[in-house]
Amino acid sequence: MSKRVAIIGAGPAGLMAAEVLSQYDYQIEIFEQKPSAARKFLMAGKTGLNISHAEPIDTFIQRYDHAMWLSPWVRHWDAKWIQSWMQGLGIGSYVGSSGRVFPIEMKAAPLLRAWLKRLADDGVKFHYRHRCINLSNNQLTIQNQNQQFNATYDAIILACGAVSWSQLGSDGAWQQWLSEHQIEPFQASNAGVLKAWSPFMQDCFGQPLKRVDAWVNAENKTHGDIVITHYGFESGVIYKLGRDLRDQKSQKQALNIHLDLLPDMTIEQLEKKLQANKKQSLTNVWRKAGLDSVKINLLREITDKNIWSDAKQMAQQIKQLNISLDGFRPIEEAISCAGGVKQIALSAQLQLRSNPYVFCCGEMLDWDAPTGGYLLTACFATGRAAGAGVHQYLA
Ligand SMILES: Cc1cc2nc3c(=O)[nH]c(=O)nc-3n(C[C@H](O)[C@H](O)[C@H](O)COP(=O)(O)OP(=O)(O)OC[C@H]3O[C@@H](n4cnc5c(N)ncnc54)[C@H](O)[C@@H]3O)c2cc1C
Repeated sequence: MSKRVAIIGAGPAGLMAAEVLSQYDYQIEIFEQKPSAARKFLMAGKTGLNISHAEPIDTFIQRYDHAMWLSPWVRHWDAKWIQSWMQGLGIGSYVGSSGRVFPIEMKAAPLLRAWLKRLADDGVKFHYRHRCINLSNNQLTIQNQNQQFNATYDAIILACGAVSWSQLGSDGAWQQWLSEHQIEPFQASNAGVLKAWSPFMQDCFGQPLKRVDAWVNAENKTHGDIVITHYGFESGVIYKLGRDLRDQKSQKQALNIHLDLLPDMTIEQLEKKLQANKKQSLTNVWRKAGLDSVKINLLREITDKNIWSDAKQMAQQIKQLNISLDGFRPIEEAISCAGGVKQIALSAQLQLRSNPYVFCCGEMLDWDAPTGGYLLTACFATGRAAGAGVHQYLA
């Protein structure tokens, strides 16, 4: 009789774990509380599924906060591996000019369809609308509509996701099955930040601050567009600063970012351009210096009126505008979460030290990365590692 493995969660991590195990003689059952698989993965595909990143692997690894921990798995199942895996499912992919890897069709649905079919053909059993409500030793309590049953397994993989976008299934209820000291508290990552604006800023909502440099610590500058929203700022540039901002928060410091609104210009060049010209309005002087209306509005919002005509002081402000922030968007709206099951709670095979029947993978683990394909890459890689860990354990 072949051994039984249960996987909780049909997201990318759980499906990858199933794929590894489906190559061997196991009875694999996936319990998914939603009516269908991988809803967050499908959501990720709505704006173009950025599935990985083709930059050199040593740079790639450094994008993760727990780089050393993830390194063996992400190196093994890297962007090239993901591209050839997709090819195996009949999905072509390409590397964009930014290095980001996408399926040619950009969407997640065709990839997911082909993947689910192959898993089902390989004997993996899917139980949708089945919510795991308890885990004790190697026994699961599963709820399906009004019914409830217990079942024991030779191994169990938790691939339940983190705590954002809970309407897609990742509600974090699994945290009650572990103890507090096994879990690093979750925090919003890849999330917008809050800034209370005066009514004067309304015209800028939805508009980008184009090609700015942004940083919390000067050694970690990032470049690109930042969108001004009714609640503050949003964009990949802001997400990249998330880790430094969370450090500020954990050290109980005020949240601050710095912007260089004209990074292609030196402070001396800028000062010259800002020299008062009696025939021109202040706005015209600023425009001619290279500032568009969004940047001008932001400067008026943040800086003291008394320095607006002072070329030297304004040049300094434009090159290093200090903006205090009021916090992060709620974790529920974050693209991903920092925090989760701690490395010390797990073996090198992602097996829980407190319960050898249980393995964990995906976003529910305590790692974090910016957007850019790093999130899915680590979910795939840790899913495969957990699958391989279970096989090693059961063999
Ligand atoms: C809007 C958006 C865009 C994104 N875009 C990208 C992108 O372009 N590139 C990228 O790399 N990443 C992206 N991500 C992040 C990526 O989608 C996630 O990191 C990834 O889906 C996490 O995979 P996972 O398998 O660990 O968890 P999830 O995908 O969250 O899957 C967990 C599954 O477990 C199920 N589950 C949870 N608890 C139970 C239970 N008790 N019983 C039964 N089932 C349960 C859930 O219903 C869910 O289906 C995006 C995320 C969002 C929200």
